[in-house]
Amino acid sequence: MLTVGLTGGIGAGKSAVAELLASYGAVIVDSDKIAREVVEPGTAGLAAVVAEFGPDVLAADGTLDRAKLGGIVFADAGRREALNAIVHPLVRERSAALTEAAGPDAVVVNDVPLLTENGLAGLYDVVVVVDVAPATQLDRLVRLRGMTEDEARARMAAQATRAERLAIADIVVDNDGTPAELAPRVREVWEQLVALQGVRGRNSGA
Ligand code: ATP
Repeated sequence: MLTVGLTGGIGAGKSAVAELLASYGAVIVDSDKIAREVVEPGTAGLAAVVAEFGPDVLAADGTLDRAKLGGIVFADAGRREALNAIVHPLVRERSAALTEAAGPDAVVVNDVPLLTENGLAGLYDVVVVVDVAPATQLDRLVRLRGMTEDEARARMAAQATRAERLAIADIVVDNDGTPAELAPRVREVWEQLVALQGVRGRNSGA
């Protein structure tokens, strides 16, 4: 197995790259998606959140009211830690189970938005960084995500810098071009990952 940490700034194109890698055969482990799944109705995760924060964080349909919970935890670091103490272990557990289930020959790509910020490069065999010029990022966030320019700048400023991300990259995917240009570049990266997985497989099997 080869484990890959895929990261990049907000709006850089991580999801686009993950989709392409999945189409070539990668197993994708998406931590944002898992973080939502572990607090779906009926889960132990949601029960723990309600026990900690009270039933007011539930919407009328029994799902977690994210806006309400967000309002509580973003205003108070202690409450944020309490939430993370519930959610993070569940996310880690589920990610590990999905990774395990992928099997020994898999290339498992973890989509981790804050990999650089949280110092997680060491968890993966290979770190792939989706890189765009800040101007491209700003343009996509405003044009495609409906943010104001100020909002987009604030979100970008709250993250690691482009240089900090590039410093931990093993492989850089430039996504300043068109989607049509991205696909062949990701295909190349996929082939590189498969080759690395082959080398690892031979070494670990010896
Ligand atoms: P986030 O961190 O916010 O989850 P992301 O890194 O996953 O973002 P995507 O959602 O893949 O980024 O891309 C951001 C937006 O830019 C999307 O609307 C996507 O369709 C668009 N996009 C991605 N790559 C390109 C490209 N090469 N050309 C034009 N638009 C692109």
